[in-house]
Amino acid sequence: MELVCIECGKARRPENLFPMSCECGGLLEVRHDFRRADAEKLRALFDSRLALRTGPYASGVWRYKELIDPEVEEAHIVTRGEGNTGLYDCAPAARYAGVRKVWLKAQGENPSGSFKDNGMTVAVSRGAAAGFRTLACASTGNTASSLAMYAAWAGLRCLVLVPPGGVADGKLAQTIAYGAEVYGIEGGYDIGVRLLNRYGEELGFYVCNSFNPFRIEGQKSIVIEAAHQLGWSLPDWIVLPGGALSNASALGKGLLEMKAIGLIDRVPRIAVVQAEGASPFHRMIASGGGELVPEPEPRTAASAIRIGNPPSWRKAARVLRECNGVTCAVSDGEIMAAKRVIDRSGIGCEPAAAAGLAGLKMLAEGGTIGRDETALVVLTGHLLKDADAIRMPVPGPALEPLAPDELLARLASVR
Ligand SMILES: *Cc1c(COP(=O)(O)O)cnc(C)c1O
Ligand SMILES: [Zn+2]
Repeated sequence: MELVCIECGKARRPENLFPMSCECGGLLEVRHDFRRADAEKLRALFDSRLALRTGPYASGVWRYKELIDPEVEEAHIVTRGEGNTGLYDCAPAARYAGVRKVWLKAQGENPSGSFKDNGMTVAVSRGAAAGFRTLACASTGNTASSLAMYAAWAGLRCLVLVPPGGVADGKLAQTIAYGAEVYGIEGGYDIGVRLLNRYGEELGFYVCNSFNPFRIEGQKSIVIEAAHQLGWSLPDWIVLPGGALSNASALGKGLLEMKAIGLIDRVPRIAVVQAEGASPFHRMIASGGGELVPEPEPRTAASAIRIGNPPSWRKAARVLRECNGVTCAVSDGEIMAAKRVIDRSGIGCEPAAAAGLAGLKMLAEGGTIGRDETALVVLTGHLLKDADAIRMPVPGPALEPLAPDELLARLASVR
């Protein structure tokens, strides 16, 4: 495997991660040599690992090590058994969106509660293998809680930059509890990520934002595991929320690689859903433009996708072309309505995660997605990540303390 610049094609060994972007300014990506990969043998290998309950290959990411990071040594793998998330055939979601079938891939079931774990386990393993003692990231919340968890587990120091007041309570609580050092940054995620990209290496930090190409490799496991769960065939569409656009880039890369190897014989189409107030990528695609115009003041209640200048937009744009993808933007009201359907179905998710279902409904109503088509919607984060969001749209139950007698009387009246 090699690290290759997505702009000029210059290549280097995977150990030479720094500087984490090319001289020309382009992002790096991992390029594998799959010419000798044998789909039948890989399927048998992945199946054989399903019986494992401990060790790195029990992880839903490292089970697919040959497709993700074949070279990192097993002894350096830092894993919490991530991945292994449920894939649910959710009739209420299908009814809501108006399509034939909806599979929900519940990435909130990861150990820190979001899909960031799928990628972080690979980035942190590589950082630990390279001998770094301090891990750092800028984050809207979930990247921070994931990195803080893996750093604690590996016995490493963790620094995170967050937008003050812009992180959901559950995420910040987790990050602090895992022992990370938390700093507020003026200008929030968009400034923090650029600051670390520029100065992280000088400061001796191993930076785990999504321009770290190993995170992208790990996040591919979301679609690899889903394909495995479905017997190596996927629905017509993969639908997901887009913020920094790392996940769109990762899932597209994973799909194209699986097709090239012969693990799947058809690449699903991708739909990337942004929040209206933070939708620079959708605006670029919809206008047919070739350059992303950042949104200086991104606004949405879905804090995980409140990103105005997504670092991975070029990777995502390429994936969209190669997977015949589409984009759309949904309002916060539409996000919260979709969240209610997902929550009431018994699965549940945080607001940003519900953007996918809201977008699927919009695209089905507009005719882009057919009524008889099927979709896999990636639920990116757990319900409890952002408990305040549940109280916001619909007034929550009145939680005034009731005397036992009064409580019994009320219960009898609603029985
Ligand atoms: C990070 C995150 C996203 C956005 O993913 P990107 O790769 O930044 O586009 C969406 N939902 C949740 C819950 C997240 O944590
Ligand atoms: Zn380059």
